[in-house]
Amino acid sequence: MEDVNKYFGDLHVLQNVNMAVRTGEVVVVIGASGSGKSTLIRCLNGLEPFQRGRIEVDGNELKPNERNGQALTRIRRQVGMVFQQFNLFPHRTVIENLTLAPTKVKGLSEAEADRKGRQLLERVEIADQAEKYPTQLSGGQQQRVAIARALAMDPRLMLFDEPTSALDPEMIGEVLDVMRELAKEGMTMIVVTHEMGFAREVADRVIYIDHGRIVEEGPPERIFDQPEHDRTKDFLSRIL
Ligand code: ATP
Ligand code: MG
Repeated sequence: MEDVNKYFGDLHVLQNVNMAVRTGEVVVVIGASGSGKSTLIRCLNGLEPFQRGRIEVDGNELKPNERNGQALTRIRRQVGMVFQQFNLFPHRTVIENLTLAPTKVKGLSEAEADRKGRQLLERVEIADQAEKYPTQLSGGQQQRVAIARALAMDPRLMLFDEPTSALDPEMIGEVLDVMRELAKEGMTMIVVTHEMGFAREVADRVIYIDHGRIVEEGPPERIFDQPEHDRTKDFLSRIL
């Protein structure tokens, strides 16, 4: 992201945001409610247009106010997204949730998509739930399906927006485990989360944003143990 600015009406939600994420890097984004974390990652995969600056994902460039076009289509295909509220297709089974986009968008045959989908379900340890509907699963299981569904498109980048915030405490661990594995395998990830233990252990870099600006960034140890800015200190003292 280069000097990205985004407004909702008069509200300046992202202010000159500059961010470069390397292949294989895991970046955790932290900040207070309303600081612009979701907006930041929604801009990155073209869910929200922005007004100034530029965004490039894996060689595809997004320009201000772009709402469709080839670059956007390619970015959406290459970027996987996992939301707080799972967003699974409720009237499709688990395996259908995983095969829909690969067959429709990537042109995989049903058999190929099915094989791949089942492999992914094994990877997130819910192979036995393939024929169920999302509402028949626990929150932690649904979120693991959502991760598997995103992975079914072979993304180059995975975005997570508070993936464990809607989960009962006992299910947070199983979702973080899957994310930790993904990071170990070298996936490039940008993760909005309040799970500071995860951030400390898995993140290469932590970015603190406040009122739409990147205030501070660095390795987790530095940000958590020696924050430089008062705002970062304030924020951390409230959540740690
Ligand atoms: P949270 O931690 O609560 O999820 P956040 O850091 O993700 O917060 P955003 O959702 O990115 O914050 O919102 C940033 C600002 O933009 C907030 O002031 C919010 O009210 C505003 N905002 C977000 N979406 C819209 C929208 N569609 N229309 C108008 N304002 C919006
Ligand atoms: Mg948010």
